[in-house]
Amino acid sequence: MDMRAKTTLPAVAKLVWNRALDLVYPRDCISCGDIVEEGQFDYICGECIDKLYRVEPPWCHTCGFPFYGVVESARNCPHCADLDPVFEQGRTLFLYRELGKTLVQELKYHRAKYLLGDFGRLIKAAVDLPEFLKDAILVPVPLHSRKNRERGFNQSDLLTRCVAETMGDLPVENLLERIVDTSTQTRLSREKRIINMKKAFALKAGAEINPEQIYVVIDDIFTTGATLNACCAVLRRAGALRLRVLTLGHG
Ligand SMILES: [Zn+2]
Ligand SMILES: [Zn+2]
Repeated sequence: MDMRAKTTLPAVAKLVWNRALDLVYPRDCISCGDIVEEGQFDYICGECIDKLYRVEPPWCHTCGFPFYGVVESARNCPHCADLDPVFEQGRTLFLYRELGKTLVQELKYHRAKYLLGDFGRLIKAAVDLPEFLKDAILVPVPLHSRKNRERGFNQSDLLTRCVAETMGDLPVENLLERIVDTSTQTRLSREKRIINMKKAFALKAGAEINPEQIYVVIDDIFTTGATLNACCAVLRRAGALRLRVLTLGHG
C-alpha cells in the first residue's frame, strides 16, 4: 500500500507525516535501489537523474525528438519521416532509454502511481510546455475495454490527469474509444498492424469537436507515432483542425 498517496491531510501536516514516513519507510530510487535523500525527486536519486535524457531544444516540431548538432529542418526528422502526421506539433519529455525506459515501464506495467509526483516535476521543468499546452483540451489515448479490465487502469489516463493538474487544471476530455484490441495482433506483419491501427479508434458517442480548439493527445510513449496518429485522424475526421501530441518517452 502506498501510504503517501492515501493521506488527505493539510499541507503542513502532510509534510510532517511524509518526513515521519521517510524514517520508517525510506524511499528507494527506482533505478539503483539506494535510499533517496531529500532532494528534487521522490523516487529518483541525485545520481540516477543524470541517466534521464530530457529533451531540450532544438527538437523536431513534429514528433519532439531532439536534434543533436546540425538542424536540417525543424520538421519530419528520421523518427517521423514515414508517418505522414495528421497532427501539427509534437512534444516529448525524455528519451525512452535507461531511466526513461524504467519510468515508463513502471507506470505502464506496475501501476506506479507513486511516480506521478516525480512526473509532475518533470512536466513542470519541461521547456516551453506551458506555451505548447495553452488553451488546449487534453485527450488521453484510450485502452480497449478488455485491456482496461485486465490491467485495471489506463496509464495514458493517469498521465493526462497528471499533466492537467500540474499545468493548472487544464480540461481533459475522453473523446476517443478503442474499438479494436491491437494488443492481440502482435503476430501480424508490421504492415498489417499499421493498417489495423488506423481502424483501431473511434469518436465516442456524443463527443463534440470544436474546429477552433487545440487538442493535445497524450500517451506514455512515442515509438512509431502510429497510435497517436490514428487517434488524431479520428479527431480530424470529426472536424478538429488543431491537433498536437505529447508523450513522456520517445523510443
Ligand atoms: Zn539511483
Ligand atoms: Zn520527428
